[in-house]
Amino acid sequence: MPNRYYESDGSLADLGGVAIAIIGYGSQGHAHSLNLRDSGLDVVVGARQGSDNWKKAEAAGLRVMTAFDAAAAAGIIMLLVPDHVQPAVYEHDIAPNLGPGKTLMFAHGFNIHFKQIVPPPEVDVSMIAPKAPGHRVRELFVEDVGVPALVAIHQDASGKALKRALAYALALGCLKAGVIETDFREETESDLFGEQAVLCGGCSELIRAGFETLVEAGYAPEIAYFECLHELKLIVDLIYEGGLSYMRFSVSDTAEYGDYTRGPRIVDQQTRARMKEILGEIQSGKFAREWIDENKTGRRNFLAMRQSGAGLPIERVGSELREMMTFLKRKKEIGVPVQ
Ligand code: NAD
Ligand code: MG
Repeated sequence: MPNRYYESDGSLADLGGVAIAIIGYGSQGHAHSLNLRDSGLDVVVGARQGSDNWKKAEAAGLRVMTAFDAAAAAGIIMLLVPDHVQPAVYEHDIAPNLGPGKTLMFAHGFNIHFKQIVPPPEVDVSMIAPKAPGHRVRELFVEDVGVPALVAIHQDASGKALKRALAYALALGCLKAGVIETDFREETESDLFGEQAVLCGGCSELIRAGFETLVEAGYAPEIAYFECLHELKLIVDLIYEGGLSYMRFSVSDTAEYGDYTRGPRIVDQQTRARMKEILGEIQSGKFAREWIDENKTGRRNFLAMRQSGAGLPIERVGSELREMMTFLKRKKEIGVPVQ
């Protein structure tokens, strides 16, 4: 069993009163900045001059500087700009400001594990990776619950890297929910596999294939949308709450029988073999090389796929139907793109 840490395992005193720079004020960045500030820590946000983020962070009462100045002012630097932007921000703004006694932190291991960022040996390098999107990290902190997180240590020059990372997790609210120890390799590879095979890739294609199968067979797209996309949340909520058995207990016996007898025909030995193949591409670095290359050459394929994905029939019918679901309006207000 990996080590697990809870509130009694963290102490803010381990941070030694140093200022903490949060570089990037996006999904994770805004939550880390506000939670740490509300936990009484000395937070400075690193943002681009004149950017909306700069104004937002200032409006929230935070101290804001350029990423360079924030990294210079802080003892602990948490890098929360998008992963593909991190190597450039590291080279330009962070590396010149690192030295003995400083800590560089991440919320995901990609750039360290795939050596896109190689910090000098005299700094501590650690990770607190909350297992939730940023707005949940903030909401559940405010509700005094907190979200779970992973902790990993890549370099421990000071001998205090773990204590300091746990103190950070305490201030972020994560020790309330529990923090599990891992390493950068395990976090990075499992995260990529999860999002590719199950959460984003596998799930999106399963929804789309189900929807298109019904529509091609002559069923109304609206009906297909409700069956294959909308209801997924209700099922996932049950699974989240009590596991697969609880979901099966809650659905009808007919649904449960169909689940046991038909599910394994959808996700069969071939699907499992392809999952292994995809994991192999992650472990060998093939996926990382492809994605790094895509970013270096202007993201043409990526942007084209984003555009064609947004134009699919399931997206068009979904956006019409969601217009009528008043309880979903909030998504628009927070700026999630709606076609
Ligand atoms: P994000 O895209 O929401 O936010 C990044 C912010 O950085 C953006 O607001 C962007 O404007 C800003 N930015 C870009 N370039 C900048 C620069 N040069 N200087 C200053 N700011 C700049 O990113 P995110 O989803 O919060 O991801 C941050 C990190 O957290 C990543 O390592 C990611 O893997 C990790 N993470 C994200 C989630 C999640 O659910 N979003 C969960 C766990 C871990
Ligand atoms: Mg993930």
